[in-house]
Amino acid sequence: MVKCEECDAEIKIPEDSIEGEIVSCPDCGSSYELVKIEGGFTTKPAQVVGEDWGQ
Ligand SMILES: [Zn+2]
Repeated sequence: MVKCEECDAEIKIPEDSIEGEIVSCPDCGSSYELVKIEGGFTTKPAQVVGEDWGQ
C-alpha cells in the first residue's frame, strides 16, 4: 500500500504487480508507475503521454 502524492489517498498495489506497472489513484485519478524496492514497491509519477493539457 502506498499513498497518493496528490491527495494522500491509499493506493492498493496487487501482490502480483511488476515493476513499471501503472496504477491509478482511486480518488483523484493520478497515475503512478511502480518502482520495485526492497520489501515492496514505491511509486513515481507516471509519464502520461498523449494528453495535452495546454499551458
Ligand atoms: Zn490521489
